[in-house]
Amino acid sequence: MSVRVVARIRPLLEKELDRDAIVRADRVDDGKPLTIVKIPSPKNEAEEFSFTFNSVYEQTTSQEELFSAEVAPHVKALFQGLDVTIFAYGVTGTGKTHTMRGGMKLAERGVIPRLLSNVFRRGKKIAKDSDGETTVQVALSYYEIYNDKVFDLLESPDKRTPSGLPLREKDGKTIVVGLSERSCEDLKDFEKLYIESNNNRMTAATKLNAHSSRSHAILRVKVTQTTGDMVKESTASAIDLAGSEDNRRTENGKERLIESAAINKSLFVLSQCIDAIARGDKRIPYRESKMTRILSLGQNNGITIMILNLAPMRSYHLDTLSSLNVSSRAKRI
Ligand code: ADP
Ligand code: MG
Repeated sequence: MSVRVVARIRPLLEKELDRDAIVRADRVDDGKPLTIVKIPSPKNEAEEFSFTFNSVYEQTTSQEELFSAEVAPHVKALFQGLDVTIFAYGVTGTGKTHTMRGGMKLAERGVIPRLLSNVFRRGKKIAKDSDGETTVQVALSYYEIYNDKVFDLLESPDKRTPSGLPLREKDGKTIVVGLSERSCEDLKDFEKLYIESNNNRMTAATKLNAHSSRSHAILRVKVTQTTGDMVKESTASAIDLAGSEDNRRTENGKERLIESAAINKSLFVLSQCIDAIARGDKRIPYRESKMTRILSLGQNNGITIMILNLAPMRSYHLDTLSSLNVSSRAKRI
């Protein structure tokens, strides 16, 4: 199991009033890649904190650059049977959805459509090169975890039960009982399904008078390669996490507090798992939250990438610091 923790700093947006960028990327030495994020101390502006990552991406990094550097290299491993898990972690407004889903324009597409495009391409090539002996199937599941309950995003929100879908253990794995799975032939297929289910997510959030940034959205891409009676199965999971901001500071009301507690707990467990994997621990506390349990995080011989999304502005100062502090892998030096 290997893990990479990288940071991506988003640019200031035109409409943004706060133009005071206080977060910057840096390198250890001239000529070395960017691996450091610097931010002033809130108490003493003259003092600067530094955090190290496996890699840091600047304001100018394009969607294509991020994808080719962090995700594309693992598509081959996926087809060799390894599981690949990609998280976008960060405060609401820092670019998680932009990173994972992205915009409609080709250049603005995020990790998820690019990943699918690569998976379809490689799958078709494998089938072709085997002269039809190997068939490759791609199937999707898409669900969200809200208040520690699992909801299917491939289903209409009308079909939701308040308690969400139950989990069950099967052959040492955690499965979501009743979660749908749709097979996808090509990128067009995928995009139709993805747009539909993202609409389901919005509708469901609106019904609850909640915001979709309060749930984790998990897309699972299952790749099945069949050659005769040999079956190789692996999964890529792409997760747009709930905002990591501490809402206890700014919001009240019972519903929001329940949400916050659930989000804080699962993000805390996630960071504990990432740390444990990074340290090479035998025991990964993946059972402590539903999300990490369903993902069996750290249980497979796979690759995990955590992208820490950061906004550069002063108005995010304290939240940025706490998200930088979250993983000991992204260590303060
Ligand atoms: P989050 O999902 O973390 O709440 P979003 O992805 O919605 O954040 O990003 C907030 C805003 O910033 C959106 O308007 C988005 O288009 C923009 N944005 C985020 N990252 C970038 C980027 N790298 N380049 C350009 N715009 C970005
Ligand atoms: Mg978002």
